Amino acid sequence: MYAHDLSGAPHWATPGQRAKRITVVGAGLAGLTAAYELERLGHSVQVLEARLTLGGRVRTHVFSDSPNGPLAELGAMRIPASHHRTMRWIDVLGLSDRVRQFRTLFSDDASYLESPAGHLRVRDASPALVKAFREGLPPGSDYRAETVLCAAWLSASVNAVAPGSFRQSLQTGLNVELLELLEDIDVRPFIVDGANERIDLNRFFANNPGFARTSRLSNFFDDVVIETSSALFRLDGGMDQIARRLAERVRGPIHRGRRVVGLHAQPDGVLIEMRHGLATVSRHCDYVLCTVPFSVLRGMRFSGMGDDKTAVIHDMQYWPATKIAVHCQEAFWERDGISGGGSFTGGLVRQTYYPPVESDPRLGAALLASYTIGPDADTLGRVPPDRRAAAVLDELQAIHPELGRPGMVLDVVSQAWGEDPTSMGAAAVRWSKDPAAAEEERILAARSDRTLFFAGEHCSSHPAWIEGAIESGVAAAQEIDAYVPAPRRVLAAGYRKVPGDSV
Ligand SMILES: Cc1cc2nc3c(=O)[nH]c(=O)nc-3n(C[C@H](O)[C@H](O)[C@H](O)COP(=O)(O)OP(=O)(O)OC[C@H]3O[C@@H](n4cnc5c(N)ncnc54)[C@H](O)[C@@H]3O)c2cc1C
Repeated sequence: MYAHDLSGAPHWATPGQRAKRITVVGAGLAGLTAAYELERLGHSVQVLEARLTLGGRVRTHVFSDSPNGPLAELGAMRIPASHHRTMRWIDVLGLSDRVRQFRTLFSDDASYLESPAGHLRVRDASPALVKAFREGLPPGSDYRAETVLCAAWLSASVNAVAPGSFRQSLQTGLNVELLELLEDIDVRPFIVDGANERIDLNRFFANNPGFARTSRLSNFFDDVVIETSSALFRLDGGMDQIARRLAERVRGPIHRGRRVVGLHAQPDGVLIEMRHGLATVSRHCDYVLCTVPFSVLRGMRFSGMGDDKTAVIHDMQYWPATKIAVHCQEAFWERDGISGGGSFTGGLVRQTYYPPVESDPRLGAALLASYTIGPDADTLGRVPPDRRAAAVLDELQAIHPELGRPGMVLDVVSQAWGEDPTSMGAAAVRWSKDPAAAEEERILAARSDRTLFFAGEHCSSHPAWIEGAIESGVAAAQEIDAYVPAPRRVLAAGYRKVPGDSV
């Protein structure tokens, strides 16, 4: 038994192994990657997806009725250059020619930054940032001016990336910690001259990729470095092309609208309970790969897993995220001198991004008005969508009064991931865990129970990234392929498909 990869080369199932029948729960990138890999290895696959759309937390919204209308990424929007698996899949899926640079926070001098002196253009912000930073230092602190300048900008990025409660927990000692980390680095090459000297954080991080590795917050700083780096990409035409291209290559059925509500690991397979129309039906499967987030799984009926596994399913920390995108009559920010990137707006809004206009300008332009995570996302996510949108538009008019112009706002769409029943959060977060504790949690999350296997960003070493979904999907496919059933299980197991049922 063999399948063909995209280059046409055959991939044989592990020698001596019977081809397996696997039910994959979830058609996000982990589930689709695993399905594709399992078929490549000679197994047969069916996918059960609760939603009517594929891609899970990769969700591209197209404004206007035209397929070429302006796009808003309501889920994943950028790919770090260092995420080699994701970049490789983009290549394999024939999407390399769609890769474009993603411009991030602070990458445009004309974008805005909230400071103690109010909203300032990035190019004008240094004096206010340095003044506030110095005021937060212990009396008698004596650091070089350039070190303080760099630390003040790093602190501003931490402030822009970290959500509310986490931000507050960092305050104690963070500024001194940043200064200590910078002691051994010559930051002068990263100073940008101008009316006000500032630090080019993009270049600083590119030249100091291991910055803060020794810090107690290394997991968190890794993400700050990534989010404010210039080595980020996006896909022209939308990130959901990754999911669509993957799904096209999966030969087995992908059943949409099939919400799994129970998973029970049994000695001879896995019992799945699933909503089918108004009824709940049970199916026995030989092998199941569960890719739903643990934040969803813990709300389902599940049994047959060990105590430690049950504990990690219940305890894994998830953070919400809320995105609010606006269809504007025109890219008004360009008249204001902003050519792209993002503003750190603070307040309720937190971050605002200015996507490039790649569609017909007569169809308008998309603005990612607000991107929040953690408690900030809950604040917005828990109010009804119309009030959420009104609050954000109102606040954002302080720096973009054009939003109040009649006819400027054509449409608003928002996605509160913490409230979405198919995600119950944006992603697993291990920012406060040291590397050993984070790895321990990952291993337990990914551990299989007999023929019930697990994948998803939460089971990977890159949680909260597409890279993690792909890493875990490939790893689970290999684990299932290598799994050797005990002899008595071979006799007992069987793919008991109910006649006439398509699942
Ligand atoms: C707002 C936001 C911004 C992000 N930004 C980035 C970014 O810029 N770059 C990046 O790389 N990553 C980013 N991520 C993370 C990235 O999107 C995820 O890590 C990745 O998509 C997760 O894939 P997954 O397959 O593990 O999970 P999911 O995509 O959640 O897939 C799980 C699937 O299971 C389905 N499902 C759920 N419950 C059930 C059920 N009961 N029965 C059947 N099916 C079910 C879901 O509908 C979904 O399709 C972001 C995520 C969010 C939310």
